[in-house]
Amino acid sequence: MISKFAPIAIGTMAFFMLGGCASDPSGAARAATNPATGSASADAPAMPHARRSLASFARPVSEQACYDRKTEPYTAVVDAHFHPRPFGGQAMAPERLFRILDQNGVRFVNYFGIGQSLDMRSACTYYLDCPGTTALPSIKNDFVNGQETKVFPHDNLDITLSMTFIDLAHPQDVVKTIALYDKEFPGMFKWAGELNVEKQALLKNMHEPATIGSIDQWAPFMKVLRDRNIPVTLHADLGNDANPTQFLPLMQHVLKKYPDNKIVWAHMGLSKELTRMDPRQHIAIMKKAIDSSPNLYLDISWDVLYNAYHEYGPDFVAFFNAYPDRILPGSDFVAAANKTDEQYARELEVTSRVNRALDDEAFRRIALGENYFRLLNLRYHAPAVCK
Ligand SMILES: [Zn+2]
Repeated sequence: MISKFAPIAIGTMAFFMLGGCASDPSGAARAATNPATGSASADAPAMPHARRSLASFARPVSEQACYDRKTEPYTAVVDAHFHPRPFGGQAMAPERLFRILDQNGVRFVNYFGIGQSLDMRSACTYYLDCPGTTALPSIKNDFVNGQETKVFPHDNLDITLSMTFIDLAHPQDVVKTIALYDKEFPGMFKWAGELNVEKQALLKNMHEPATIGSIDQWAPFMKVLRDRNIPVTLHADLGNDANPTQFLPLMQHVLKKYPDNKIVWAHMGLSKELTRMDPRQHIAIMKKAIDSSPNLYLDISWDVLYNAYHEYGPDFVAFFNAYPDRILPGSDFVAAANKTDEQYARELEVTSRVNRALDDEAFRRIALGENYFRLLNLRYHAPAVCK
C-alpha cells in the first residue's frame, strides 16, 4: 500500500503548500465516512454548525452540555498550528481571519508568525515559488500579530501569540530579542515557534539547519521558555524518502538536552520530502520519543495523517488513542490574502478527519482542546463527550 500512499501524499502536499489550487488531489471532496454510522457516503458531509461559544469553555465541565459527536462537528475547536501571515505579500485582514475562524468553530488558535520573511526586495509571497530568495527568521510578523490582536476585537476567539523569530542555527541574540518583546508586548507572547530545526523544503531559500553544536547553544533561551512555561513547536524533518531517519539524531539530541522544556514536534517529523515511510516504523519512532520524553507533544497538523488514516488507519488511531494526552491538532494554514475562506474550512476539515475515528477520551483531549488547555494552564475546560 506504500506505493499508493506516496502519490496521494505528494499531491495533497502540493495542494496545501501552494494554496489557491482549484483541484484537490487529496480527494478531500470524495467519499467520506459518516462519523455517526461509520459507513461511507457519496459526499463529504456538510459540517454541522458549531454552536459552542468561547465563554462556554470557561465553565466547569459539569456546567457544560456534553458534546454530541453525532450532531456536532468533528473539526477541532483548537488550531494549534496556524500562520496568520504569509512569507511575503498581503495577509488576510484580521477581521476576515477572525470571522473565518469563528465560522469554523475554532475558538483557540496559535499565531505562528509566519516566522520566516522573504527578502523585502522580492515581490514573492511563497518561498517555493522563488528559490534563491532568502526566507529568514524575523521579528516582523510577530510584531504585526502582537499589534493586531491587541487592537482588533475578537470576543469569540482566544489567540496565543508565538515568538517565531528564533534562528536555531544562530541562537546568540535570542534572549536579548525576547527582552525586546517583553518591552514592546509585555506578557503577551506565550508560545514559541514554529521554529525550524531542519526543514529541507526551505534549503533553497537559505534556511540554515540547526546542528548538534548550535542546539547546545540554545540553553539560555530554552531556560527562559522553561521558566515561563512557554511551549516550543519545532519543525524537525525526520528525513526523506532516500533516508527516512537522516535527521532524527538532531531531534533526539534536542530531547535529551532539554528534557524539561515542553516541546511540540510539528507534523510528527513528516515533510513533503518524506512520504514513503513505513507508518509502523514512523509510529515506532514517535512512540519511543514520547515514552522517553515526558514533555514531548506531537503536532498532527498536515493532511498526510488523513491519508495515512485511510491507508493505515488502525495503527495511527490506536497510537493516538494510546497517547491521548500527547497530541495537538492544527491546520498549518498560511493566511495569504489571495486565498478563499473555503480553503481554510477545507484544510481544517481534512486535518480533522482522523478525529472521527478517535475514542471519546482522545477526542475530548485532542479535538475539544483539553490537551491544549492543560499545556498552557488556561482556565478553559473541554466538555465531556455524551455517552
Ligand atoms: Zn507550519
